[in-house]
Amino acid sequence: VHTTFTRAHDVIIVGARCGGAFLGALLAKQGLNVLIVDKAHQLDNIDSTHILQLNGAGVLARHGLDEALLATGAPPLTGMTVSIDGVDLSCDYPPHLDDGPGAFCVRRDSLDGVLARYAESCGATVELGVKATRVVCTDAGVRGVRLQNVDSGRVSYASASLVVGADGRRSRIAQEVGARQYNTVHGERFVLWTYARRPVDSTPKVAFIRHNDSIILHAPTDEHRLMVALNPPLENLKAARRNPHGYLVSELARCPETKSLSAALEHEPTPTRIVGRSMSYFREVAGPGWLLAGDAAMYKDPCTGQGMSDALRHAESLAPVVRKGLECNDLEKRLRAWWRWRDRDESTSYGFFTLQGRTAGTSDYERDLLHRFAADDARRVALAAVFAHKKVPAFTFGSSASRVLLSQLFASPARGMSSSIDAGRILANEVKWWSKLQASAAYMTRLERSRSAQ
Ligand SMILES: Cc1cc2nc3c(=O)[nH]c(=O)nc-3n(C[C@H](O)[C@H](O)[C@H](O)COP(=O)(O)OP(=O)(O)OC[C@H]3O[C@@H](n4cnc5c(N)ncnc54)[C@H](O)[C@@H]3O)c2cc1C
Repeated sequence: VHTTFTRAHDVIIVGARCGGAFLGALLAKQGLNVLIVDKAHQLDNIDSTHILQLNGAGVLARHGLDEALLATGAPPLTGMTVSIDGVDLSCDYPPHLDDGPGAFCVRRDSLDGVLARYAESCGATVELGVKATRVVCTDAGVRGVRLQNVDSGRVSYASASLVVGADGRRSRIAQEVGARQYNTVHGERFVLWTYARRPVDSTPKVAFIRHNDSIILHAPTDEHRLMVALNPPLENLKAARRNPHGYLVSELARCPETKSLSAALEHEPTPTRIVGRSMSYFREVAGPGWLLAGDAAMYKDPCTGQGMSDALRHAESLAPVVRKGLECNDLEKRLRAWWRWRDRDESTSYGFFTLQGRTAGTSDYERDLLHRFAADDARRVALAAVFAHKKVPAFTFGSSASRVLLSQLFASPARGMSSSIDAGRILANEVKWWSKLQASAAYMTRLERSRSAQ
């Protein structure tokens, strides 16, 4: 069927939040004609807590957006308060770890507003209340999108050399182009969160507390609030849904580090939001005329607080690839190469992050390993660097793990053996995801070579 396009762009991006707006900004900055659409009328708060890790905030700082982040009223977070079953692994971020003033916890209506305005200031056109209902294809691939105004229902068609799906986990664009999902891991936790009044003496740090089978994250956010998120095991979801606020308060009361927070929240019945089961996954990133970005392309368990930072750092590395590909007329080839890079880059940490979504308790071996880390400033900083995608978990834990195992084996062979089994399980998980992601990237490279040889 012949489609009449009423407008033409170099790039159309569907979704105007972290995954879409920032990529659109960087592309427009390079002189491309970019249209960003979002079906939402307003980029208000969505289902997301908002720990923007040091590396994600660093990306924004490199593009001059640190002032805009500070202007939201959210303080820069200068370190991590980490407690795992009572072992204190807190640290300050060293100044060289990234370029910005620190990590941040900015509510999504503020953060996504900053990104959309930035995209406009770079020359992109941002249209809210406009839904992409399908992609338009020719034999050569995707050539544009069908757009519908959410209020008037008016339909128009826009063409582009590249259509980007930055439309979240249930990506319509991914569905339309048939992007395959792979390396899926079902999370064993759900999330509930609220905003407490920020205590005057609250430390400007990201708190990551693992207590029994729950993970608690909290950090000061904008409007003088403290974002408090709890990630308990899925089997408690029903009970939590009956009374989310009461459940949150009682769970925080069970943890020594958050007892006072629980008492404060008890007298402050703030709205508490819940998101149920989650799933980590990768998706095929690119094909003829299309690309996926942000959650549409990859997702990690929310308890790890990685999604926004991943979306931002990926946008930063994708933008020059897109420009060069359009310039040299070999965009698909370049995007496929980027996709292989992404999988290799993620291969070293995906195992570690999927483990955080599991609810198994801390073993004897892990506790000894954590104590070793707790006793050493440099190791605690290294752990924070793992969350900022600056260090590889296996290398960070490797030498300490072998020392712990050796000392346990000497002290008590039985204990040493059982710890070796625990350590083996963790290592097997790391190796599994490393080899799967490396192997799929190598397979894609071979496929690409045989294609270009034909
Ligand atoms: C409970 C929870 C807690 C989380 N906590 C954190 C955290 O602390 N730190 C962190 O870094 N990450 C966190 N994440 C992950 C984070 O929210 C995502 O990684 C991030 O929002 C990804 O941004 P995105 O732009 O790719 O997608 P989204 O933020 O989902 O935005 C997609 C946009 O696309 C639009 N859209 C969808 N379909 C269409 C269409 N057909 N046409 C037009 N527009 C469309 C939507 O309206 C939406 O605005 C959390 C996630 C959850 C669920």
